[in-house]
Amino acid sequence: MFAEVLAAQKLFFQSRSTLDLRFRLDQLKKLYKALEISEAAIFDALRLDFKKSAFESYGTEIAQVKGEIKYLLKNLPRLMKPVRVKSGVASWPAKSYVYVEPYGVSLIIGPWNYPLMLVLMPLVGAMAAGNCVILKPSELAPHTAAVINKIVSELYDQSYITVVEGGAEETQSLLSLQFDHIFFTGSVKVGKIVYEAAAKNLTPCILELGGKSPCIVDEKADIEISARRIVWGKFVNAGQTCVAPDYLLVHKSIKRQLLACLNKYLVDFYGNDAQKSPDFPRIINEKNYRRLKELVHQGQLAAGGKCDDDTLFIAPTILNNISWDDPVMEDEIFGPILPVLEFDELDKAIVAIRNRPRPLALYYFGSEKKKQQKVISELSYGGGCINDTLLHFGSPNVPVGGVGQSGIGKYHGKDSFAVFSNRKGIVQKGTRIDVSLRYPPYEGKLNFLKWILKL
Ligand code: NAD
Repeated sequence: MFAEVLAAQKLFFQSRSTLDLRFRLDQLKKLYKALEISEAAIFDALRLDFKKSAFESYGTEIAQVKGEIKYLLKNLPRLMKPVRVKSGVASWPAKSYVYVEPYGVSLIIGPWNYPLMLVLMPLVGAMAAGNCVILKPSELAPHTAAVINKIVSELYDQSYITVVEGGAEETQSLLSLQFDHIFFTGSVKVGKIVYEAAAKNLTPCILELGGKSPCIVDEKADIEISARRIVWGKFVNAGQTCVAPDYLLVHKSIKRQLLACLNKYLVDFYGNDAQKSPDFPRIINEKNYRRLKELVHQGQLAAGGKCDDDTLFIAPTILNNISWDDPVMEDEIFGPILPVLEFDELDKAIVAIRNRPRPLALYYFGSEKKKQQKVISELSYGGGCINDTLLHFGSPNVPVGGVGQSGIGKYHGKDSFAVFSNRKGIVQKGTRIDVSLRYPPYEGKLNFLKWILKL
């Protein structure tokens, strides 16, 4: 059945309808409108999936997609135009261009943690670039997957865009087919499965993965503001954010003050019992809940620790006196647990981070410009912030994605258009002049070739 849908999409792609600027703009506008009309249904779905508040649902899901659509509606005419570039002296006389064309049919596979945004953001890029799409949202957020399916099937013919609901089995079936492009967001483990399947067909593949993202708080950090921004960035979505600070590396001279401030903001944001807060989501499923519950009792509890098996609630939790060898430092936490490690020299913290897989995100809190630059230039990571958390994810002008183990390829804004496009380099020649230098016999031409290539 999936093969038939793919064949229908390939046929529709060949009709060249998606190459038209007007067509792309119209489809994007329809999606924008549908997001407004379906707002209440999306809020309901996200609440049912993991008790996400309407505020976070709007701010971190719907608004992100709408922002991406707005950016691409405005910039699409420019992005689609061929760009004239300089011609090399070897091709003189000539004009050279870069044309962009869609890949064809793209498979987009999403995770559950921002189940709407992380499926629709790439969709918007794929549509803007003129592709047909099969979307596979996560089965772990079934209400949101159903809303996405409803929105898409009401707006578009399935030979253009369609949704497949299901889990690993359905994804494996899709991956066995020959797509023109694959865009995957999810875990490193499944990312490897997807990459292997893509390699079998030599399909271009983008991987948006995860990992442990460090957050460094240096001795000259503004402790109040750092604590406030860290608590927000870590515990939004109950810590189930790919770019959330996974752990804190705090300068030992300020650790006590910082811990006190983190506690203060936890109470400010979620009250004395976060289980009663309407703003704090639940863990997505039993499996993740059990995994996280195992991590709560490590080091010394500095905040939280409460778990409720019936509602899959884990309180915002801070673990003090953690070392690199503790189990909580092995894998990405992906939940509301924040381990705290300390350092005495920034250089040592940098070496410790460099000895581990390159992170998806990194955050540095500190006021000294030199140290800020040091962290940016001496560590390789996908992206991040200085004196804040998460915000780089929200701008269409900032590319988002990992490096090394945390992923391959960047998107958002013009980069979303780029990852779903083939850039075609064209040298355009006339036929009146035909310089004979390149043609054999070469005798006596080498010195002239060297001279001309120096120009
Ligand atoms: P996941 O890898 O378990 O699932 C992602 C998708 O793969 C789902 O649609 C799922 O149905 C499918 N899938 C699961 N098992 C499969 C298998 N064996 N074969 C084929 N397909 C399979 O990830 P998740 O739990 O949904 O999401 C959490 C992970 O995603 C975290 O590691 C997080 O860091 C990462 N993530 C990354 C980003 C980013 O932008 N880089 C964003 C969100 C989440």
